[in-house]
Amino acid sequence: MDLAAASALLVRIDPLFWLPMAGFAVAVLGLLLYRRVSQRLKARLAAAQSQLAVLRTHDPLTGLLTRQALELELDAATRACDDGRQSLTLLYVGLDNFRSINDDHGHRAGDAVLAETGRRLAALASPPPVVARVAGDEFALLIAADRERAWIAAAEVLAALARPYRMDERERELTASVGIAVYPDDGSRPRLLAHAALAMRSVKRGGGGAHACYDPALAVDRREQTELLQDLRHALERGELQLYYQPKIDARSLQVTAAEALLRWQHPRRGMISPLIFVPLAEQHGLIAGIGRWVIEQACHQAALWRSRGLRMRVAVNISSHQLRQDDLVPFIEATLARHGIPPSRLTCEITETVAVEDTEVTRRAFERLRRTGLHVSIDDFGTGQSSLATVRRLPAAELKIDRAFVADLASAKARTIVQTIVKMAHDLGMRVVAEGVETEAQRDLLVEMGCDELQGFLFARPMTATAIALWADDDGADDDGHRGFRESLFAPTLPAPLDLLQDAAVPIIR
Ligand code: C2E
Ligand code: MG
Ligand code: MG
Repeated sequence: MDLAAASALLVRIDPLFWLPMAGFAVAVLGLLLYRRVSQRLKARLAAAQSQLAVLRTHDPLTGLLTRQALELELDAATRACDDGRQSLTLLYVGLDNFRSINDDHGHRAGDAVLAETGRRLAALASPPPVVARVAGDEFALLIAADRERAWIAAAEVLAALARPYRMDERERELTASVGIAVYPDDGSRPRLLAHAALAMRSVKRGGGGAHACYDPALAVDRREQTELLQDLRHALERGELQLYYQPKIDARSLQVTAAEALLRWQHPRRGMISPLIFVPLAEQHGLIAGIGRWVIEQACHQAALWRSRGLRMRVAVNISSHQLRQDDLVPFIEATLARHGIPPSRLTCEITETVAVEDTEVTRRAFERLRRTGLHVSIDDFGTGQSSLATVRRLPAAELKIDRAFVADLASAKARTIVQTIVKMAHDLGMRVVAEGVETEAQRDLLVEMGCDELQGFLFARPMTATAIALWADDDGADDDGHRGFRESLFAPTLPAPLDLLQDAAVPIIR
């Protein structure tokens, strides 16, 4: 029977018969279709879920375990350790100054460094570690080792990461900080990772490039720091920060050439807190920009007040590395100086040697701006870093401050040779030399003999309030004719040396 005949037959058959039949056929077809679609959906869902599971357990950039996956591994490893089947140590590794890689070479280079770091850590052999990337530039290694073996492993990690990284056709060296926490001595299962991280951060605070074991004192430190940080967030608005000033004295005439502004925090419960404690905290938690701007504003305001009273000394402010990285630092200083009517050459920016010689794109740009503006730049704590003559020559600095450790150590022949060499080098480059931390007359005499231009230290004056320093200068600076030391301007001899002059080692000495 052909199709036309069949249709004709169907039409003639009672619809009450064929309509349910057709409905049944459609339902069966629908069911088949639904099963196929839902099977496909299920398969896709399963694939997505397993992809997700990989992502949850493995970091896509390095292929290493994620923090969540490490936690599971840690559960199993601590159980094995509890059963006496193995020893267990956690190494927490942080790359030092990783941010400068992103700043200087871009994020792609940064990613490549992280991937390479992952490969180097995973390749460590004895005993083979479980490696995870636990945060941006932080890694954790789980090793079946006791404390003694863990020290060796930490040294191996440092050595592996100290090998140069290749980027932009150049090689760059990085250091790392490693924190060690041994289970169960250094922490229970839930605290182990946090304790190893604390140990790593304590190494970082000390300059990095080393390893250290967890110390319970760090946890106390941490609690105190959290409290201090809370208070520091409000210290500025509550008017608890204050600037003290310490004079710099001309080594021969003993006249005051400048006053260095030094931050103090008058804490309502803890009393006076040193900047050595709260400045690093402010740097770590992004508070230094606001505090630094306040310092610059206050110091310029004070300089203007002193000028209006005829006390015409240069004012120095300390600039931290974080401030130097901010693009608006120099324009902000310029605008503040202009508002207070202070010439840029009368403000000294003290930048510590270790920061000054960081040869990164950002520091180069900041120094170039400082030079163009005509600000007086001083390299603070000189001698503590590893600068070569070539690095110092590049910097648009007019002043070198010899670190007070050398001054304190002048009894030793070695320290004397170092100071002598620094003085000679600085003078050859047309820079003035300031010795800080001068406490005794013997030190003063030696430093003058060695040719230091300016001296600063408790022998002359401790840091004091702006009012106190003005009174002190009135008394102390008076010469035989009753003239105050401040009245004589000593500024002309300390104009900043222009960069092009510094390119040539045989520049005349500017005195
Ligand atoms: P610095 O800039 O090298 O300041 C010199 C430090 O040595 C000051 O400590 C000063 O009080 C101390 N000092 C001065 N003369 C003597 C002496 O004869 N003997 C001894 N033993 N010490 C002396 P202070 O005020 O505690 O400041 C410590 C550091 O904190 C400063 O070192 C500076 O790096 C930082 N700092 C202070 N104020 C600021 C600020 O406004 N911003 C930033 N970023 N850092 C600051
Ligand atoms: Mg200083
Ligand atoms: Mg210093």
